[in-house]
Amino acid sequence: MHHKTRVDSFEPIRARLVNSLQGRIDTHISKQVLQAMMQVPRHLFVRESDASHAYEDYPLSIGHKQTISAPHMVAIMCTLLDVQKGMNILEIGAGSGYHSAILAELTGPTGKVYSVERIPELLKFARNNLHNTGYHNVIITTGDGTLGLPKHAPYDRITVACAAPTIPPPLIEQLKQGGKMVIPIGESVQDLYLVHKNDTISKEKSGGVVFVPLIGEHGF
Ligand code: SAH
Repeated sequence: MHHKTRVDSFEPIRARLVNSLQGRIDTHISKQVLQAMMQVPRHLFVRESDASHAYEDYPLSIGHKQTISAPHMVAIMCTLLDVQKGMNILEIGAGSGYHSAILAELTGPTGKVYSVERIPELLKFARNNLHNTGYHNVIITTGDGTLGLPKHAPYDRITVACAAPTIPPPLIEQLKQGGKMVIPIGESVQDLYLVHKNDTISKEKSGGVVFVPLIGEHGF
């Protein structure tokens, strides 16, 4: 966890990206999320040959037919999720670990981020990236994230980084009362949803998106 703005040679182009996200007129990105994005060195979460593109606003391949999401998508999802300090968070699809690092900044040292990744090589990639950048409160396990991670449930917040056919029931079960979940739903046409769990489950549609498929028992 870094309490001062991280200074490295990429700092000026990271600041330019964060400023462009702040200036978006179609979506509001929260101040906390902008601050978190200023802290996390995205160039250390992409393949070395892509470091010079790390602060451009589009997805990049991380191998295994998977991508690190575009910065604005992570920013939008994290803003919708409304993470508070000390929260217990579950992420499905660690990929590069970048989104996990942003969540770790948002929940802070008193919180926890659990992430499930189905591809073992990407689990290693994400773990390495998080280790190198000092995010020690992110715990990644391998498995089918459509089953959630019952061991550390219930969660205040759940975020899914791949598109599901429907909301996997185990994820609803493992969400706290009053909890929120952000999840893309759909196959060729996908929408991002913000799900609230109260006495009933309600979902709000928040716009069209493009994600890799969620593969597993309650996935594709
Ligand atoms: N948030 C990531 C983006 C990950 S892309 C980042 O910041 O880099 C989506 C990831 O979800 C891929 O790594 C893919 O392997 C993983 N995935 C797909 N289905 C899954 C499942 N059922 N359980 C866990 N991970 C899954």
